[in-house]
Amino acid sequence: HLVASLEVEQTYIMVKPDGVQRGLVGEIISRFEKKGFKLTGLKLFQCPKELAEEHYKDLQSKPFFPKLIQYITSGPVVCMAWEGVGAVASARKLIGATNPLQAEPGTIRGDLAVQTGRNVVHGSDSPENGKREIGLWFKEGEICDWIPVQEPWLR
Ligand code: ADP
Ligand code: MG
Repeated sequence: HLVASLEVEQTYIMVKPDGVQRGLVGEIISRFEKKGFKLTGLKLFQCPKELAEEHYKDLQSKPFFPKLIQYITSGPVVCMAWEGVGAVASARKLIGATNPLQAEPGTIRGDLAVQTGRNVVHGSDSPENGKREIGLWFKEGEICDWIPVQEPWLR
């Protein structure tokens, strides 16, 4: 389970193939930007089967595993790394329950999806998995640890 944390954390967020196909990439990125997290990695990517299997290795024994791998590799995904205080649990809250019919309105899945097997977005479930998954999906040079400038852009 997830407890609100005051630590700066890294989380791996991914728009799944259905989210890309349905034109929801901007909408989904926007939710994390508006929340106030910092984007440190972003790419469109066709996931090879081996990577999908490694990413979801904890679910290997589930009956839906082959379908899950087929789904994740069925078209390009948008890979993202986001950083922020309590980012892992907060992103999971923004995403909503795994089954979109149980996800609250206002969450990404609650607003945009209906099927567990087509739930448009992934988010890491722990800070450890956040680091692990960012390491899996991104090469070192693809992560940008930038410092937001202090310019008063809007004044
Ligand atoms: P979450 O993505 O919310 O962390 P899990 O880690 O339990 O959920 O499962 C990973 C993904 O596997 C889900 O997001 C969903 O795409 C798929 N999945 C989970 N349970 C099922 C199921 N019963 N039937 C089909 N697909 C499922
Ligand atoms: Mg999970």
